[in-house]
Amino acid sequence: MPQAASKAECDVVIVGAGFSGLYLLHRMRELGLSARVFEAGDGVGGTWYWNRYPGARVDIESQEYSYSFSDELQDEWRWTERYAAQPELLKYLNHVADRFDLRRDIQFDTRVTAAHFDEASSTWTVATDRGETVSARYCIMATGCLSLPNEPQFPGLETFQGPTYHTGRWPHEGVDFTGKRVGVIGTGSSAIQSIPQIAKQAEHLYVFQRTPNFSVPAHNGPIDEAVIADWKANRAEYRQQARMSGAGIVAVGATETLAFDVSDEERRRIFEERWGKGGFAIGAAFADLAIDRKANDTAVEFVAEKIRGIVKDPEVAEKLVPKGYPFGTKRLCVDTGYYETFNRDNVTLVDVSNAPIEAITPTGLRTADGEYAFDALVFAIGFDAMTGALGRIDIRGRGGKALKDKWADGPKTYLGLMSAGFPNLFMVTGPGSPSVLSNMVVSIEQHVDWITDCIAHLGGRQVAAIEATPEAEEAWVAHVNEVADMTLYPLASSWYLGANIPGKPRVFMPYVGGVGLYREKCDQVAADGYEGFRLTPAGQAA
Ligand code: FAD
Ligand code: NAP
Repeated sequence: MPQAASKAECDVVIVGAGFSGLYLLHRMRELGLSARVFEAGDGVGGTWYWNRYPGARVDIESQEYSYSFSDELQDEWRWTERYAAQPELLKYLNHVADRFDLRRDIQFDTRVTAAHFDEASSTWTVATDRGETVSARYCIMATGCLSLPNEPQFPGLETFQGPTYHTGRWPHEGVDFTGKRVGVIGTGSSAIQSIPQIAKQAEHLYVFQRTPNFSVPAHNGPIDEAVIADWKANRAEYRQQARMSGAGIVAVGATETLAFDVSDEERRRIFEERWGKGGFAIGAAFADLAIDRKANDTAVEFVAEKIRGIVKDPEVAEKLVPKGYPFGTKRLCVDTGYYETFNRDNVTLVDVSNAPIEAITPTGLRTADGEYAFDALVFAIGFDAMTGALGRIDIRGRGGKALKDKWADGPKTYLGLMSAGFPNLFMVTGPGSPSVLSNMVVSIEQHVDWITDCIAHLGGRQVAAIEATPEAEEAWVAHVNEVADMTLYPLASSWYLGANIPGKPRVFMPYVGGVGLYREKCDQVAADGYEGFRLTPAGQAA
């Protein structure tokens, strides 16, 4: 248990050096505060540091998936592809770290293991796996929503004779699958991006699919000069549109039209046009796709038809067609040649929905109805999302209460920013905020800006502690659930609900209300003197 210091050694401890941690550090310094960042990896980048699997790339247009806080940064950086690949994103984040001289306050290769609040001094004491402790007035968790890989739990895993890889912890030196038989378990976004690349190298690829996903073509390529020129001319306006939009993305072309406002032919034409445009555009084809099952069915049918048109073997195509859950309610995947990959002679799709994987064997794996032999195995099985990384830290608030215990039945936050009983502890894109349902960079900047303004407000007024009230939190949690229940999202067994992790409570974690409305709510709360938060004046115990 970390010992509390009588006086804070720094103003702010930030955990994580991805998009969130880097921008936080920059903003804290602007406030004139001392900040220390701890990062488990040996470099900056977060997601784009860890996920180096072949084919890894952003699936939102590069220029939109980038910081907006500095005009100079935006002017000097030039993306090369419509959807930047992982190496380019990592280069960008390294450039940001250098440009704003961030590294000197980041301690790498250091995992935060505990954070305990001391009520008498209103400080957090943070402990690391290097045996250090540091105390700070504020502790900000920028630990990532998709940063803790889902550990493979298959019986017999330790007997496998070949190498195994997790997409979320890919070796820095890369992997050469040439001449190898490879197994990939999973068909989520990471698998859908990597499978076409691995198939090009491997002698044979076995894809083990439990649930088929909806995937739409990226139509990636070098970034269009016209797009760059348009972005440059209208950047400020586009950024503002993104901030006030539903998902934080302008390029999707959101509409108010409902699916049955138009004829069958017109609907088809619209889907076709958006499929041709690529990326998430199709997900925004009609305003009611996420709330009306019949409207949603039209998208389900359209994508099914596309799959049947691309995949030559009708049996394989049928296995790839998603069934039993609405379009877009598991995160939509964006691919480059995914369905086409199943036309290759060296690729076999194995449906493990009815014949589950029973065990990993020394030479491959066994399902309920067969044995498969391969030399290397890739786990593309996702993450303990949204709460996983926080759950790995022994976070204790008022009265020594553990956050993990408080969240045993699901996360509870006010605005996804703070949790009652944990004064001065902020989360970036926490559960109860739009977070993973949005362009994350837009949501990250909004949270970091809000937290920065909040801390500036407290400092200016000699406030020692801020804490969400239980009443405000309860009302927000109820609202988050109510809005989710108005949509089709809860109908899918998704990681949004924690359904991918055995034993995790099934609670829809992100806020579906949209980034624009959510931003207005957060701004209003601040304008009303931090309504729903309790502020403790300096000199009083929190
Ligand atoms: P992260 O980038 O996850 O960084 C968190 C950091 O915290 C990590 O480096 C981790 O090592 C560190 N950390 C965690 N716990 C500790 C600890 N206890 N001690 C020390 N350090 C710790 N979002 C989109 O909007 N669009 C996309 O196209 C998109 N693509 C994605 C592709 C992949 C493969 C994945 C996994 C996610 C993707 N995301 C995407 C989501 C992505 O996570 C966010 O866009 C964004 O990068 C999150 O930044 P972050 O800084 O909040 O978290
Ligand atoms: P994921 O979406 O959770 O997919 C994991 C896959 O593994 C699913 O197909 C899942 O099947 C399967 N799986 C898990 N455990 C299994 C088991 N025991 N047996 C068989 N199959 C199993 O994880 P992800 O692909 O890493 O993506 C996570 C999120 O990261 C995405 O949704 C997205 O937000 C982000 N991401 C984005 C991109 C991008 O395009 N930019 C790329 C990668 C990741 P079930 O569906 O049946 O559970």
